[in-house]
Amino acid sequence: MPRKISILGATGSVGQNTIDLIDRDRKSYEIIALTGGANVQLLARDARRLGAQIAVTADQDLLDELRAALSGSGVAAAAGEAALLEAAERPADWTMSAIVGAAGLAPGLAALRHGGTLALANKESLVAAGPLLMAEARRHGATVLPVDSEHSAVFQALVGEDIGALERVIITASGGAFRDWPIAALEHATLAEASCHPNWAMGQRITIDSASMFNKSLELIETKEYFGIKPEQIEVLVHPESLVHALVGFNDGALMAHVGPPDMRHAIGYALHWPLRNPLPVARLDLAQIGSLSFSAPDETRWPALRLAREVMATGGLAGAAFNAAKERALDGFIAGEIGFAAMARVVEAALTELSSDPGLSSAQIDLENVRQMDHLARIRAQEAIRKHS
Ligand code: NDP
Repeated sequence: MPRKISILGATGSVGQNTIDLIDRDRKSYEIIALTGGANVQLLARDARRLGAQIAVTADQDLLDELRAALSGSGVAAAAGEAALLEAAERPADWTMSAIVGAAGLAPGLAALRHGGTLALANKESLVAAGPLLMAEARRHGATVLPVDSEHSAVFQALVGEDIGALERVIITASGGAFRDWPIAALEHATLAEASCHPNWAMGQRITIDSASMFNKSLELIETKEYFGIKPEQIEVLVHPESLVHALVGFNDGALMAHVGPPDMRHAIGYALHWPLRNPLPVARLDLAQIGSLSFSAPDETRWPALRLAREVMATGGLAGAAFNAAKERALDGFIAGEIGFAAMARVVEAALTELSSDPGLSSAQIDLENVRQMDHLARIRAQEAIRKHS
């Protein structure tokens, strides 16, 4: 029986890498739903080619274009948030959650309701609402598998291990586009410069977040939420080669490292075939040729996002939702040219400071409504901060 697969965020970088793997063994999979945003032509092309039941664009205004592109294919077309949720709820054995940003939370939660496996690339879900997402998974007997390369690496290093013997988790960071720039120059870094990652080919938003280390700061929180460990057990190590993705340290002093090429098809493929390992079309490393690997401690003056993430973890509650939303608004501001690159961290910090007097930040229950309200409020506070910083 072919496995039933849905891909949320099918037109993005992770979505396309997922389709690449599925394409190589088409008869093993039946495609239920593919979803996308603005890139309706790519969505329609893939839905038609893969024989999906339904293709959904998040943008209601693009429904006619999607319908026209799917005409005669037998693939149903739909648009908007409700349609996205309906598609995510369609029973599937394995769902890839690869929408970018907080927009991925509700569809991910909807996909958990039919049990099955949620392959989670959308780290923002765990940052904004980790306890909610994991509780929903337990409630519906669903499995959540990490797809972020660092978290997949930790997950793999823990196979067969006693979690009680886990002492620390080290996630690595390339340092992004500006690792070696003078700190003062970060004020004037351009969008084009921030959108080039030295090692990974990814969507634009996560690439910029890598340069600012907001991506790593989200991953710190993601590690805490996914593995249920204390913030002080999680470390970040700058590793420019992006070959060691994470290390796991045990109580006997042993460190287990996961080493592989910077290719998302490894982590996606691991989640696709788990608990088995199947051959994957990723490069095999020649360590003799690579010769040496380098590591250093991150500089929190250069990357204040890391300090902010520690503060967010200490606050708990809805602070993750506020942090992620403020970060998303600041990033929108940078992309739109409203603020400079280095101002993003100042905007997020200002928004969090404003929100710190709100008792709901640390004490409110983490349900979808409260997360949405905090997300909304944090975007407003970030918007106000952008006005002051622009
Ligand atoms: P992309 O920007 O490449 O793709 C994002 C996907 O989400 C696209 O399909 C896009 O549609 C869709 N989308 C955008 N906005 C919305 C919305 N409001 N509602 C519904 N769908 C929307 O992102 P990536 O693939 O790079 O990243 C996806 C997720 O995976 C992120 O959470 C990221 O942090 C995480 N991740 C990514 C990695 C990577 O290598 N890229 C590595 C590890 C984690 P469209 O393009 O049609 O507008």
